[in-house]
Amino acid sequence: MRFQLFIPGPTEVREEVLRAQAQPMIGHRMPEFSDLFHRVTEKIRTLFKTDAHVLIFTSSATGVMEGAVRNVVQHRLLSTVNGAFSERWAKIAKANGKAVDVLEVAWGQAIKPEALAEALKRKPYEAVLITHNETSTGVMNPLKDLAKVVHEVSPDTLILVDAVSSMIGAPIEFDAWGLDVVLASVQKCFALPPGLTVTLVSHRAIEKAKTVEHRGYYFDFLTQLKYYEERHQTPATPAISLLYALDVQLDRIQAETLEKRYERHQKMAEMARSWARTYFELFPEPGYESPTVTTIRNTRGISVKDTLQELKKRGYAISNGYGKLKEKTFRIGHMGDLTPDELQRLLETLTEVLGLPQA
Ligand SMILES: *Cc1c(COP(=O)(O)O)cnc(C)c1O
Repeated sequence: MRFQLFIPGPTEVREEVLRAQAQPMIGHRMPEFSDLFHRVTEKIRTLFKTDAHVLIFTSSATGVMEGAVRNVVQHRLLSTVNGAFSERWAKIAKANGKAVDVLEVAWGQAIKPEALAEALKRKPYEAVLITHNETSTGVMNPLKDLAKVVHEVSPDTLILVDAVSSMIGAPIEFDAWGLDVVLASVQKCFALPPGLTVTLVSHRAIEKAKTVEHRGYYFDFLTQLKYYEERHQTPATPAISLLYALDVQLDRIQAETLEKRYERHQKMAEMARSWARTYFELFPEPGYESPTVTTIRNTRGISVKDTLQELKKRGYAISNGYGKLKEKTFRIGHMGDLTPDELQRLLETLTEVLGLPQA
């Protein structure tokens, strides 16, 4: 059965991008690979207008979330938590033996700069973990303002950002905001099949990594960087087919322009929010609603599970609430290459499935 994905990852992958994967295989120690890997890496650097390092790992984002804390933190970090994915990052840091202090607010709320400033004043931290867009709740944290207070209150603290469901879908200014590690797997706003994680790493983070022991092996930023700089290769065999697809997709993103891409996401978010306000309520704290995923409070007590099944028969997939929010909320992902017209058709179909009057 063919159904279009309006879930917050993986997202709909266009035919042209899917087909790009079907190119003949090459060896990852061949010059043809180095050309591809160099081209893709530099396209990302150009897209973000940065001279920071770009590391591309064959892994979902969770692997690099682990890699990031191992590479730049020897002992202590501060983890901000307001949903399932930020909670995961705190758990990962603990599982790797780091001393983790948590700044937590309720699911649905955003992390505020004032609270972060207070937490940073209490102790020195090597790094702070921030989840830009909490996909579990549909809340976007005010990353620019959070980064600003880190620089003001604790300038030596590195800023590590999970931008899995925001990078390429919402503005992130790596250099201007003074970020140190920003990572995103490609099955969300990049609209590729899963399997790669794009990581921007500051020069300062690389310098810090040089002083950190037990950075691990597969996700060692220094080894990854050395292979790239010396021969445009990766230490282990990468997902070459996905890199073909990324190469093509980066051209498509460049052609659309990041600005237009952000506008398109914003427009879709406004459509989804307007639908949600008409028939239900929005879950996130007002003013912090995500531009890439809309989380709707189930104020009508519908069976979300049954609704998802009915929708699927009509060619669409949306998501139930995440974890403890299951059935209490549901989520519409509107990221990647989806268009406002496609979203409009989904919303009309959803209204019909729920037996509600069309607005
Ligand atoms: C999807 C998601 C993850 C997990 O990414 P994987 O690629 O599945 O490892 C982490 N953080 C956020 C914010 C996400 O949306």
